[in-house]
Amino acid sequence: MVNGEEKEQLKQIVSIPCKGCGAQLTFSAAKEKLACQYCGYEQIIPNSNDRVVEKSFTEAISFAGQDTGLGLESKTFHCKTCGAKTIVNIQEVVLRCSFCGSENVNQEAFDTKIIKPFGVLPFSIEKNKALEIFKVWLGSGWFQPNDLKKLAHLSKVEGVYIPFWTYDAHTDSFWTAEAGYYYYVTVQYTDSEGNVQERQEQRIRWEPVSGFYQHWFDDVLVIASQGITQQRIQQIYPFDLSKVVNYKPEYLLGWKAEVYTYDVKAGFRMAEKIMDDFIYQECASMVPGDTYRNLQINTHKYDITFKHLLLPVWIAAYQYNGKVYQVVINGQTGTISGEKPLSFWKIFFTILLLLAVGILLYWITQNK
Ligand SMILES: [Zn+2]
Ligand SMILES: [Zn+2]
Repeated sequence: MVNGEEKEQLKQIVSIPCKGCGAQLTFSAAKEKLACQYCGYEQIIPNSNDRVVEKSFTEAISFAGQDTGLGLESKTFHCKTCGAKTIVNIQEVVLRCSFCGSENVNQEAFDTKIIKPFGVLPFSIEKNKALEIFKVWLGSGWFQPNDLKKLAHLSKVEGVYIPFWTYDAHTDSFWTAEAGYYYYVTVQYTDSEGNVQERQEQRIRWEPVSGFYQHWFDDVLVIASQGITQQRIQQIYPFDLSKVVNYKPEYLLGWKAEVYTYDVKAGFRMAEKIMDDFIYQECASMVPGDTYRNLQINTHKYDITFKHLLLPVWIAAYQYNGKVYQVVINGQTGTISGEKPLSFWKIFFTILLLLAVGILLYWITQNK
């Protein structure tokens, strides 16, 4: 409800009324189409993926620093279903009317950003399935407290379309290193009784080496949201990106969605780190000999392209002993990853057991 000054009204609101009963349709992950929760009416979303194509990164960063001029301002959301007016932040992508519960997609949220989503990967794991996966996961694992499943209190389960960047790049890497070759020498020493003894000692012969490594990176995927770390999200990879379709607001109806926080440049810095780590491993494995040191790599990246996608993620949070733990589930495959409390006593007794086994084995081998 509007108090005081009249705010400007949000104009790009998408909501689709049911042809059967007039209620608002939402996207059903189970049916993979728009569905009415009340009368069972269904409607397919005609789509293709012709707009999900890579764009030039160099071109994008030339205007990425610019501001859209639209920030955290608020506007009036006028619900078409019930007529209620509420004030919302314009970066809110999905608006649920607090009066009638209708689901609406605010297209204007994407206008606050320079780059709009090219494609969306629709949810295929529905809420009940996500809850089931969560319960099974909570009950599995050795080192967790026995009462975890009973006492864990689920405080949040939300299906969110999370913004991502994917990058492609050609890379040429020149590397130099010192390759180490082992050899053995016989060394004389005097033991505690004054006798001269001999033993073999390992030495390393270092040789300078260099080489060239080329790799084409395809779809290096990085998260553009602040809510989940890159490490956590990588635990629920892969997403099958061949199933991504052109972005359409219909897929977001009934779900949550975010606009990106990390821009195309910040995303690329994360992607570069992933690429550089991969290149380092590959170059290291090319160094001949038994070991290496001083591996230096000079990489040139070119023909860099990117895509901006919305991918489906279930975000859950649960409480145990007053602490909150975050869990994420891949909304396409159901792969789950999250934090779990550890049982001190279980770990303590396991270490004790391993120590006992170790001592026993030592005793057996020594008394042969
Ligand atoms: Zn209906
Ligand atoms: Zn309403």
